[in-house]
Order: sequence, then structure tokens, then C-alpha cells
Amino acid sequence: MENFRIGNGYDVHALAEGLPLRLGGVDIESPVGCVAHSDGDVPIHALCDAILGALALGDIGKHFPDTSDEFRGIDSCILLERTMALAAEAGYRIGNADITVALQRPRLAPYIERMRERLAGLMSAPVDAVSVKATTTEKLGFVGRGEGCEAYAVVLLVRA
Ligand code: MG
Repeated sequence: MENFRIGNGYDVHALAEGLPLRLGGVDIESPVGCVAHSDGDVPIHALCDAILGALALGDIGKHFPDTSDEFRGIDSCILLERTMALAAEAGYRIGNADITVALQRPRLAPYIERMRERLAGLMSAPVDAVSVKATTTEKLGFVGRGEGCEAYAVVLLVRA
């Protein structure tokens, strides 16, 4: 078993008026929210895919299919906990994680620290091992037009 494994993840959800917006396990005050089978927590989905990628265990759709009733409206924090259980089973813990969320509006700056704390707690990692960054796309593309939210995640797993 290697001492280190690296993985990356990416996720997108469309935005629509009047839906709740939950990102990084934190409720965001917003006129728009993610259209999704689960709660549409884009950064958590990217993070799960990064962890699964590091483990070479497929992707989030394989483990938590969006065709399954079990996962309808599910709190994505549960998906992250289950993904971490797979990492632990394989003998790994989080070394560090770095996440970028792209959203045109609302501004995420006031929520970043809470997201880091929440994600660190879910992954049993210290807060200083979890980075969350937010960006707009300068009004370019589907994110810039306010049609969707996307997130990228990179994780380093360390042998537990
Ligand atoms: Mg998703």
C-alpha cells in the first residue's frame, strides 16, 4: 500500500429560482439553489469524487446513484461520511484537501470559514488541512450567466 494517494474531482449543478442552496455543508442565503437528485452540494460532490479518485474506486455516481430512491434529497454530508468510511476501510486518512467553488452570485466569502470547519469535521481532518476557495467567472460562461455552480477538488490521502 502506498503512503500517499492523490485524487481530483469536479461537479456541476444547474441553478434555479426558489431552491435552497447548500454548499460545503453550509446553508447559503440565496435566491437560487441547485437542481439535483440529492441536496446538490456541488463542492461536497467534487470532494467525494476526489477521494474516490484517489482510491481508484470509481465515482460518486457509482456509489450513490441518482436513480436510487435512497439518495433522493439526501444530505450530501452523509455521502461524504460514507466516502470517508471507504477511505478508512482502504487504510487512508485525509492529508489535505483543496476545493474551488465557482459561482457568480451570491458571494461566498462570508461562508468560507464555516464550510472549512464543516468539511474538516466530516472528514476528521484538522481545519488547516481543508482549503475552500470561491471565485466568480467574471460573468463568462454558464457560471457567469448564473445558470450553474461548479466545483473542483483535489485531495491527498495519507496512509492512516
Ligand atoms: Mg453532483
